[in-house]
Amino acid sequence: MADNTDTDVTDLFVIGGGINGCGIARDAAGRGLSVTLAEMNDLASATSSSSTKLFHGGLRYLEYFEFRLVREALIEREVLLRAMPHISWPMRFVLPYHKDMRFESETPTSRLLSIVMPWMKGRRPAWLIRLGLFMYDNLGGRKILPGTKTLDLGDTAEGAPLQDRFAKAYEYSDCWIEDSRLVVLNARDAEARGANILTRTKVLSAEREGDLWRIETRNNEDGAPKIHLARMLINAGGPWVGDIIHSKVRINTTEGVRLVRGSHIVTRRLYDHDKCYFFQGTDGRIIFAIPYENDFTLIGTTDAEHDDPSDKPVCTPQEQRYLIDFANQYFARKISEDDVVWTYSGVRPLYDDGASSATAATRDYTLKVDKDGGAPMLNVFGGKITTYRRLAESALEKVSQNLPDVKAPWTAGVPLPGGDFPVDGVDDLVSDLKGRFAFLSETWARRLVRAYGTEAQFVLNKATTPDDLGYDFGATLTESEVIWLMDKEYARTAEDVVWRRNKLGLRLSAEQIGTLDDWMAARRASACNAAE
Ligand SMILES: Cc1cc2nc3c(=O)[nH]c(=O)nc-3n(C[C@H](O)[C@H](O)[C@H](O)COP(=O)(O)OP(=O)(O)OC[C@H]3O[C@@H](n4cnc5c(N)ncnc54)[C@H](O)[C@@H]3O)c2cc1C
Repeated sequence: MADNTDTDVTDLFVIGGGINGCGIARDAAGRGLSVTLAEMNDLASATSSSSTKLFHGGLRYLEYFEFRLVREALIEREVLLRAMPHISWPMRFVLPYHKDMRFESETPTSRLLSIVMPWMKGRRPAWLIRLGLFMYDNLGGRKILPGTKTLDLGDTAEGAPLQDRFAKAYEYSDCWIEDSRLVVLNARDAEARGANILTRTKVLSAEREGDLWRIETRNNEDGAPKIHLARMLINAGGPWVGDIIHSKVRINTTEGVRLVRGSHIVTRRLYDHDKCYFFQGTDGRIIFAIPYENDFTLIGTTDAEHDDPSDKPVCTPQEQRYLIDFANQYFARKISEDDVVWTYSGVRPLYDDGASSATAATRDYTLKVDKDGGAPMLNVFGGKITTYRRLAESALEKVSQNLPDVKAPWTAGVPLPGGDFPVDGVDDLVSDLKGRFAFLSETWARRLVRAYGTEAQFVLNKATTPDDLGYDFGATLTESEVIWLMDKEYARTAEDVVWRRNKLGLRLSAEQIGTLDDWMAARRASACNAAE
């Protein structure tokens, strides 16, 4: 065998370091399987850092009768909240009501209503919203999250930023999640349980050799090729799931994935309270306006067909205008392109269930095993951040039908790194951290606790003054933290740090980001030299 062949045979080889790949790798490693995961760029560099960042049941999916998906996601919200109280937290959503609100014309509910109540002419009546929220409150066994209530918007903080025509709203619960940190913490935990996590490593091909897979990878930084052997292949390529099936593994399947781009805009903070808005549009779609990173508001999302996964998704001027016009139907102070400080865009890899519109395509996941007389391959289609742990459990069930000695499910109730503290324990952790590191401001300490939880103290090492943390890159990002991110969290470039491990890119100048990138490149180079 050639030198670059890894002669060890792993049980699972996972393609894709998004939330689904990393969630599966963590679950599998904890069940005693040997796992290698290859991600061609940075972890969470594709869809899993571009979501709306909600652990949610998906209120609007009720109109599509997606009860299984909504119920599973609702129950899962609180399981996840307990396992990661640092990077996820409850949020209240305010849904302003107006009698002209309309359905997306294709929902089963709107079709049913147009038959039994034709005079409604596509309008979404208040009683239906109340019924939906009643189901939302009761389908998922809530214990932590408060239930729905009706709000009179007059003279309230929630009513203040809205136009006067909105007198009434409904308020309900869902949760926030730092999506890209979720991915990295799953990868770290997988590695701690024995998985081999390879970033910047592209899978070029995979072929069956009897009972094994022979997988060829290339390191994107130094070009080094490598061959891996595995008993089972997991295709968690997200938007590339079809590309992997057809051009990397070259098998025939009729399963398809539908790529639907979703874009967000970020503005300076548009209102003064900490709740989100759920806005219904005249076209039947909905968007959220969400308090973001203390000083900003996040608005999204769009639904646009996207043909090729390798076309980097960007928020087009048309999508930006759509979101601005949509928000302007609600906010009293009109916003414009001048208010937008950042945009991002991601591609949903939806299982192709033949729905005619992007909005209507199912958000549920589908797992398909292909054996073709040889080693098994599992293809992952669709899914949501919210259901990643359940998706991983279902994937491991399929794995256990193909490999021996797979242990029982274990991830429910086991915290992610830094998440081993009570759901309502953030304030105590912040005070504790400020007590240990007296130089921290409240904002700085809270940022660190929200990112690293109980591990924040290790990020700061044994510093007694800010100088002990090394170079200050700006916006409270220090050398000490960057070293943690490079050594423990797979960060390689400034982009990994300021747009995925945190969102300090919103606060740092291009020059500061450039300095950080140069510093990281120099540190990588000296690590390389030391290794030679
Ligand atoms: C706009 C938008 C908003 C959303 N909002 C929410 C939300 O609020 N809540 C929620 O629960 N869900 C939400 N979702 C859905 C959720 O983000 C996705 O379902 C999820 O992130 C998909 O994860 P994934 O791991 O399948 O894909 P990805 O995160 O895309 O990961 C796939 C990875 O595979 C890698 N890869 C591909 N080919 C190769 C190869 N040949 N070799 C090595 N690596 C490869 C890619 O680089 C990529 O990193 C949203 C999605 C979008 C687009």
